[in-house]
Amino acid sequence: MNSFKEVFEQYQWDEVKTRLEKVTISEVRNSLQKRNRTLDDFLNLLSPAASQELELMANMTRALTQKRFGKTIQLYAPLYLSNECQNICTYCGFSLDNNLRRKILSDSELMIESTVLKSMGVNHVLLVSGEANKIVGVPYFQNAVRLLRPHFSNISIEVQPLKESEYKLLHEEGVHSVLVYQETYHQEVYKEYHPKGKKSNFYFRLDTPDRIGRAGIHKMGLGVLLGLEDWRVDSFFNALHIDYLQKQYWKSKFSVSFPRLRPAEGIIEPNFIMEDKDLLQLICAYRIWNEDLEISISTRENENFRNHIVALGATTMSAGSKTNPGGYAVDKESLEQFETSDERSMEEIKTMIKKSGYDPVMKDWDAVYSGV
Ligand code: SF4
Repeated sequence: MNSFKEVFEQYQWDEVKTRLEKVTISEVRNSLQKRNRTLDDFLNLLSPAASQELELMANMTRALTQKRFGKTIQLYAPLYLSNECQNICTYCGFSLDNNLRRKILSDSELMIESTVLKSMGVNHVLLVSGEANKIVGVPYFQNAVRLLRPHFSNISIEVQPLKESEYKLLHEEGVHSVLVYQETYHQEVYKEYHPKGKKSNFYFRLDTPDRIGRAGIHKMGLGVLLGLEDWRVDSFFNALHIDYLQKQYWKSKFSVSFPRLRPAEGIIEPNFIMEDKDLLQLICAYRIWNEDLEISISTRENENFRNHIVALGATTMSAGSKTNPGGYAVDKESLEQFETSDERSMEEIKTMIKKSGYDPVMKDWDAVYSGV
């Protein structure tokens, strides 16, 4: 296989949906008892039938996560570089058709923002931007990484999908991980959510993790935007993608995130509501299927959910996040991409993690060992 597209095209959305609906409780129990689990087991654990075994799944998830990752939670914070975007995405505050004041951080503004993050104790920073390749493209990112690298032990990016050669350039600058979410694997409705701009090209986005893998980036993060489509079917396709990538790029590490659609200026309501118990089931299904996967929980989730998930599968959390460019210091009023739900400070999150009996980790040693 040369790209995930070849795998993807072997599956039909409606068939996966029907398979999920037909899973029986005995198939779920059989999957839970296995030593080595396959993607079919993931599907069983994701099914409506598996919700009956949620307590057992949660206990298994806690034990498996502690065995593989210890009682630690890695902490990071996003740094929004720009809200310029050439795409229309019907669920995002930065969408091209949303009339907002656009902003791109200058070098000096970037350094002011980074000083605030350092004062919060942040060592792992995620650089985020809208998708405006001509004005916030690879040269801008190279410069930003060069400026920030002396101050942070780990730099990740969540920006527009790039070419393989461009990922290589950013890798050379010191980018450790790249996050790219397909948003939804439902090809037809993908077009409706992304009517204009480069992002409307479903397959260019779908092939992005392959380009990241070929460029030798150390870690990649995948996910779907939960709320756009049936979360069970979308999550099966996301796991199918990870399964393929792990086999193809076995030197890379993988993380999965669970962004649930949040309110933002001028955006649509979720099409599919995902309850907290559904999200817990999804996290458990991922962990029980794949013990090595990093599981990242952002401030989109509410305080109560985040307090509980510390001991139930999470390995990474953002904290104290601002989702607007300049949000920490230089332009606090610029428009945010979405409203955060957990607004506690980094210190408060650290305290909460310690109270749960876990260690908050600010420095990602993994980045040191990988030589980035
Ligand atoms: S989701 Fe990304 S690409 Fe779409 S409008 Fe928002 S910033 Fe732009």
